[in-house]
Formats: sequence, structure tokens, C-alpha cells
Amino acid sequence: MKFFSTNGNSPIVGFKEAVINSLPSDNGLYFPEYIPQVSADFLASFRTRTLPELAFEMLRTFTSEIDDSSLRKITEEVFDFKIPLVQVEENIFSLELFHGPTYAFKDVGARFLARCFRHFSKDKLQETTILVATSGDTGGAVANGFYGVEGVRVIILYPSGKVSELQEKQLTTLDGNITALEVDGNFDDCQALVKKAFLDKELNAQLQLTSANSINIARWISQSVYYAWALNQLGYSKEVVFSVPSGNYGNITAGMLAKKMGFPIGRYLACSNANDVVPRYLSDEQFDPKPTITTYANAMDVSLPSNFPRMLEIHGGSYDSIKQDIQGFSLGDEQILETIKQCWGANHYMLDPHGAIAYAGLKTLLRPTETGVFLETAHPIKFEPTMKLALDTIEFPTFATELMGRTKKSIKMKVDFETFKSVILA
Ligand SMILES: *Cc1c(COP(=O)(O)O)cnc(C)c1O
Repeated sequence: MKFFSTNGNSPIVGFKEAVINSLPSDNGLYFPEYIPQVSADFLASFRTRTLPELAFEMLRTFTSEIDDSSLRKITEEVFDFKIPLVQVEENIFSLELFHGPTYAFKDVGARFLARCFRHFSKDKLQETTILVATSGDTGGAVANGFYGVEGVRVIILYPSGKVSELQEKQLTTLDGNITALEVDGNFDDCQALVKKAFLDKELNAQLQLTSANSINIARWISQSVYYAWALNQLGYSKEVVFSVPSGNYGNITAGMLAKKMGFPIGRYLACSNANDVVPRYLSDEQFDPKPTITTYANAMDVSLPSNFPRMLEIHGGSYDSIKQDIQGFSLGDEQILETIKQCWGANHYMLDPHGAIAYAGLKTLLRPTETGVFLETAHPIKFEPTMKLALDTIEFPTFATELMGRTKKSIKMKVDFETFKSVILA
């Protein structure tokens, strides 16, 4: 399998190169030359497969440079935590993606990426520096995935005061090969600094830089697995709608990939907070980014979704095709709190602020013939201050208490490329 750049101005590469480069030189995104189709046999039997088996079958064509036995080991390691489908209401299910080491769905992609990296770095001499901007959960997942991986140094940029305390602890308390930069700006500022570093000649001459953001092909493709896994657990065929809380649109476009591979998926709801550039695009075809707004669903405080080109590419650039497949939905802060409260009252099910938007999307847009699955992308405790506004009290799990007790270690900086550069070169 080869991968091309969505901007069409960069060499076609194999999986290994796409993973290590992360971003093609023309600033596009890597995209597979063709989408492998799951066979009729596989579709008939996939409900009997385990999660790692499903992952292996779905990913092996993309990752053809990794031998089967290594890929089996990788998928067993990555998918070693449960991803249960929990019924919340008669027609609404929650796909709980928060049972991994950092309690958010990003563990899946970050762990797969880290293990691919480890596999490829066996025969590499130069140390790799991974730059990653985070709006909250990426940092922790990447830090955890790469912690202790030899030959890799990770530099994480996060917007100061705009991630939860628990998220901050997850990315600032590991030390070792992980450095956390606390940036006096927002997520888009962090992302812009990282993009600039990749284009900087001096840095690239001295170091092997790469990114672990959701644009990385390894993160992206591995997220398609749990969509099939949700169908596997649903156990009966109905028209399934996936409702996905979205920020950079890596998660939902991975779901679209699963459908393109042949899994029986009806359609998608692209759910955003007040940063609603994609829902607006879906209503009037105008892609019109606005400045980022800080919301209770802070992992989705993104004004320029980095995976948007993949959404276009999957649909062959056709707005009509996109409109058939995806419906937009957005929810403001006050309604997020209302939704958490309502769902807790009605179902005794605790939504986090991101999952709440996706649940509300289904409550509003699900048709009677459809079954809705929303993605619960993080454990509610990661957003404890917001949760307290919605529900008066919330229990603190042991893992959270333990994490809060650790000492934060970060380097503070202004939004300034020269400062950033000096840290990278240090
Ligand atoms: C990152 C994140 C999202 C958004 O996912 P994208 O792939 O960026 O669209 C949603 N919810 C949570 C909890 C997240 O951490």
C-alpha cells in the first residue's frame, strides 16, 4: 500500500515513510492510494472476532511493510483494554472509548503510532523528535504511548489554562523522554508553531522531526477499528448512525474509512461545540473558519480542523456525497450542562461534555428506523470542574486522585517561534 498527499505535490510513499514523515512536504495529508475492501467472508464472520483480530484484519493492507506476526503483536498490545458498547436508551448506545491508560479514545491511535514507530526504529540510527500540539487529550495519550520508547524524544505543546488539571497532570508528570511546553495562547497557536517547525530548514537539517498529531496516518487508520467493533457488539443489523464529537475530525473520518472498507454503516453526525465550522459547511457549503472559542468541551476547541481534507478526499471532493453521508450538529455550553443533567436523570448514565454533544445530536436527529451509537471519547472525571456544574457532586476515581498528587513539570513560553526553536534544539 502506498500513500499520496491530498495536495498532490509530494512523492508517493510507503506506510513506514508516511508514519515517520507524518506530514507530506507539500503540507497536505497522507491518504491511501486505494481503500481495501473487507471480503464477504470476513463480513459474514466478523461478529465472532475479538477486537485485536478485527484490528489485524482491518489494518494489515494499509501496513503492508509490517510483517503479519509483528502486526499481530502490535494489535494485541494496542487493543488490550475493553471498548464496550453500552445501551443508554432504547435506540441509543454509547461506545465507551475511555478505558485505556489515559482515559480517552486517543489512546488507541497514539498507542498504535508508538508501536509502529518502535517497530520501524529497530533499524534506525538517528534520534527522532516528535512534536505534538494538544487541545487536551492528545498530549497525555502520546506521552503515555511513547514514554520510555528508545530513540524518541517527545515535545508537547499545550495551551496554558485551557486544558483540565487532570489532563495537564497526564502530560506534565512523566518526565524522561517527554517535555511539556505550556504555551500562553490557544490550541491553534500551538498547532501553528508545530507546523512552522516542520517547514523550518534549519531544524530539519539538524534533527529528524515528526508529528504525533491526529494527521499521522497510523493514528488515523487505527481509529477505524472501533467502528467495526461497535457493529460487532451491536449483534443485529439495523441502520446504524454514528454520532461523533469532533474537533480535528480525525475520529469521524476514520469512521468514514470503516464504511468505505465495506462495513454496514448508515451515516454520521458530525457534532461540534460552538466551534462549528464543519456543521456550518454542511449547511451552506461555505468553509468559513472563525476564531477559536473556549468551551466546556475543550478537546474540540478547534477552528481549523486538520483532518478536513480527508473528509473531502473520502467523498471524492463531492459535496453531494458528503451531504448524504454526514449531518452536522452543534451545541452551546449551557446546553452541554443541560444534556449531562438530563441524561443522568433519565438513564443514570454519566456523559462527559464531549460525549454529551454527540448524545444530544442523536436525541435531535436520529430517525425512528435508525439505531444511534455515540462515541464517549473521554472519562467524565477528566473534565471535573464542568461536571460539577452539571451534576452537583461527582465521585473521584482512584486513578484520578493518584494522578492529582503528582508534581507538574512544564516549560512556560509565549507564542513565539524562536523560543520554541531554542527548546527543540536544546
Ligand atoms: C480529541 C478529542 C475529540 C475530538 O476528536 P477529533 O478526532 O479531533 O475530531 C473529542 N473528544 C475528546 C474527549 C477528545 O479528546
